Amino acid sequence: MQELYADVIVNITQESLDKTFQYRIPEKLRESVREGTAVRIPFGRGTRTVDGYVVGISAAPKIEESRIRPILEIQEGRLPIEGRLLQLAVWMKKTYGSTMNRALQTVLPVKEKEKASTADSIRVIADRETLQRALEESRQKGHKAKERALRSLLDPGGESCPDRLRFMKTAGVTSSVLQSLQKDGLISVETHRVIRNPEDLLEDADEAENGLSVPEQEGRELTPGQKKVRDGILAEWNGQNRPCLIRGITGSGKTLIYMDLIGEVLREGRQAIVLIPEISLSWQTVRRFRRRFGDAVAVLHSRMSKGERFDQMERARTGEAKIVIGPRSALFTPFPDTGLILIDEEHEPSYRSEKAPCYDARETALERARMEQAHVVFGSATPSVDAWYRCRKGEFAGFVLDSRYGGAGLPSVEIVDMRKELQNGNRSVISSRLQLELEERLRKKEQSMLFLNRRGVSGFLSCRSCGEVIRCPHCDVSLTLHNNGKLVCHYCGYETDPVRVCPHCGSPFISGFRVGTQKVESELKSRFPQARILRMDADSTRGKNDYRKILRTFAMHQADILVGTQMIVKGHDFPDVTLVGVLAADLSLGENSYRAAERTYQLLVQAVGRAGRGSVPGLAVIQTYQPDHYSIRAAASQDYDAFYSEEIAGREFLNYPPVWQMLAVRGSCTDGQRLQRAFLALREFLRKYRRSEQTVLLGPTPETVARIKDNWREVLYVREPDRQEIIRLRSMAERYIEINSGFRDIYFTFELNS
Ligand code: ADP
Ligand code: ZN
Ligand code: ZN
Repeated sequence: MQELYADVIVNITQESLDKTFQYRIPEKLRESVREGTAVRIPFGRGTRTVDGYVVGISAAPKIEESRIRPILEIQEGRLPIEGRLLQLAVWMKKTYGSTMNRALQTVLPVKEKEKASTADSIRVIADRETLQRALEESRQKGHKAKERALRSLLDPGGESCPDRLRFMKTAGVTSSVLQSLQKDGLISVETHRVIRNPEDLLEDADEAENGLSVPEQEGRELTPGQKKVRDGILAEWNGQNRPCLIRGITGSGKTLIYMDLIGEVLREGRQAIVLIPEISLSWQTVRRFRRRFGDAVAVLHSRMSKGERFDQMERARTGEAKIVIGPRSALFTPFPDTGLILIDEEHEPSYRSEKAPCYDARETALERARMEQAHVVFGSATPSVDAWYRCRKGEFAGFVLDSRYGGAGLPSVEIVDMRKELQNGNRSVISSRLQLELEERLRKKEQSMLFLNRRGVSGFLSCRSCGEVIRCPHCDVSLTLHNNGKLVCHYCGYETDPVRVCPHCGSPFISGFRVGTQKVESELKSRFPQARILRMDADSTRGKNDYRKILRTFAMHQADILVGTQMIVKGHDFPDVTLVGVLAADLSLGENSYRAAERTYQLLVQAVGRAGRGSVPGLAVIQTYQPDHYSIRAAASQDYDAFYSEEIAGREFLNYPPVWQMLAVRGSCTDGQRLQRAFLALREFLRKYRRSEQTVLLGPTPETVARIKDNWREVLYVREPDRQEIIRLRSMAERYIEINSGFRDIYFTFELNS
């Protein structure tokens, strides 16, 4: 019988991830040693043994066979946290595909060797007169660089203690010039430690002056409705322990319930992980947690350095922190005994990683919770179709909260039919109704938010007479307008010339749909010259604190209108906002994804919820060319059930997830033809090895953006009813790609149900 060998890592640290040791798998352990298995092995000289983890298995010895020692035994019992995270990485690799190393890097908190964070600053120690004299002297001697340096130091507008590196750059001098000034006794250079400030989002002083503060004391007594949900969840924990989902409109008290549940878990001596989509937009929530749980809360956010992250992870490992709040990567917090994983705004796309392994944090949370016997709670005002489907099937326990705390009413909603605007000769992006409402808000000194629910770049064609978007006859997703002039289905590759008349109503008014925030901003400026307008989108928030600056300006009512992409509808409450305008609901409806209607419903509900959070009742105006679309109608009346029943019927009809499973195999390569050949071979391979004829293979087709930085991009879809079968096909495809030389230099990723 052929020998098998295991690659084992001992001592999990950053460096050891790349360094494995090979051991022979004795015959009696063959059945039980897998990737992720914890094993005891001889190590070093003599009789020393250590614990390690298997991260790979192969039949090829890497060193002389006789020198490879056998694995002694399998470690039983509860593994240390690193071991459990490592097993989670193995699961992620199997489910989502990627290399073992990448999966480990994603999951294990790694310490990077960090340069000490210090900075030097320059301090002038001579008086101005002395500097003047030195300047004069350098000029006479023709020391140009020194002269420049002294001029900068004398500049009254300059900083008092400039950063050394920045000074050298702006003054255009080298460090030898600074040394010379130091020798002359004119300046001193001081080194100081740069203090990491991961929580700069939470500074109290700042909050006090920026008007974004959270009420000092928060009531904790749950209402009867909230209590019922909390007790239902606790009962589930003591019973089947199914994952729980709270479907509760914004302001219904979900966060308060979360805090109660966390309190329960802490009392049992366990820890809690709280995932939120984006900290910079939800620091109000973070603040509330800090107020309730104090220093037991650790915070992670996407702009932290690796070192800062590691510090927070260490606080978790040592038990100093008991609750961690952060984006999806916080899921891998190395708590000794995780009791609860809570995912707020469960429907948000940011819970899916776009980098390999393209994991879904919700699915991965379920797996981690299973491994650690923890509880899982999801919360959302607009649950993903997937999550609600599982509630309906009884896989999850679903709970509903349908009133706002304190009886605050929902804003009224007005749907504006943009087809009629066009008939009345208004070609602008602002309808006459919205114009009137904006004027009124300006007069009454109330604030307005205008929102473009735009995501991605796909252009599509729609009819301005009937509102219909031109769709694929096979897939019911909108066709994407490619720059070669064709309309292409992004799922199946169906291609056609742009139509000249609408296939639904025969109207010739067909055109591409594009609106940008900048265009809206300039149009507003010309219509309302006196209004103070702020714009928030990817372009205006590149800097670290830009988000905050814009939000603060708006919160302090130093602006009248905030225009932005979907980022403005998340997170913050602005009590003076009484009008929300959705400029073109069609933008997200036209997305080339089977989730387009779902995203539209979620974005609209969120947007509508922004109006009238204070004492004045609010109004939301939704502009659209498809006023009868079910996701728009349901959003206007905040009727999730109505939306869900239409949506799930469509998914069932076309076998989209969550009814069936869908795998996207994405590949990119500088050689477009080779990429295509490789994909065709892969499709043939999958066709041959699928277990059932009903497994559908779609594509390959060019991605919406068909080329990035000279890399051609294509995608192949696999649809299949059974989850295990689609994971099996994915693993086979991955193996096939690995061993086939035709696939070299092609970069592949896999996405499940994205
Ligand atoms: P959600 O997370 O569902 O949006 P929150 O928990 O943020 O809801 O509650 C909305 C607001 O109502 C918060 O300011 C919260 O303090 C307040 N609130 C909710 N429930 C209660 C309660 N039972 N007692 C006091 N205040 C409450
Ligand atoms: Zn039409
Ligand atoms: Zn199609």
